[in-house]
Amino acid sequence: MKTMSREEFEKQNLFGTGMENTAFAKFFVGQSFLNPLTKPEDGLFLANVTFEPGCRNNWHIHHAVKGGGQILVCTAGEGWYQEEGKEAVSLVPGTVIVIPAGVKHWHGAKKDSWFSHIAIEVSGEGCKTEWCEPVADEAYDRL
Ligand code: MN
Repeated sequence: MKTMSREEFEKQNLFGTGMENTAFAKFFVGQSFLNPLTKPEDGLFLANVTFEPGCRNNWHIHHAVKGGGQILVCTAGEGWYQEEGKEAVSLVPGTVIVIPAGVKHWHGAKKDSWFSHIAIEVSGEGCKTEWCEPVADEAYDRL
């Protein structure tokens, strides 16, 4: 359900908002939050990522030599996912997005709602994320 209210959103956000995502702030427009759900040494790293209304990450690519990529499991609020050259896809709780390695994309909140997804790092060899340019305001505002 869309909401602009942080207090209302916290009731929906079952996997927790966590701390301000300072480590990756330079690759985001707006404020994001990170709540790790597992540790990397557990073998599969899961984190609930929360975006304030209008917040999105820059275009980026999850590179891998073998395997890799990312899976998004949408958990609260509403957001967008877009691959380069394709229409943006609306994200609601229950939406699952499989992002193959090597595909340029971005993900984030709608402009009128908080949003969270669990991000799953798919195991692979030589996994490395390449961060590119921000999503243009003109393109985002048209969504
Ligand atoms: Mn991604």
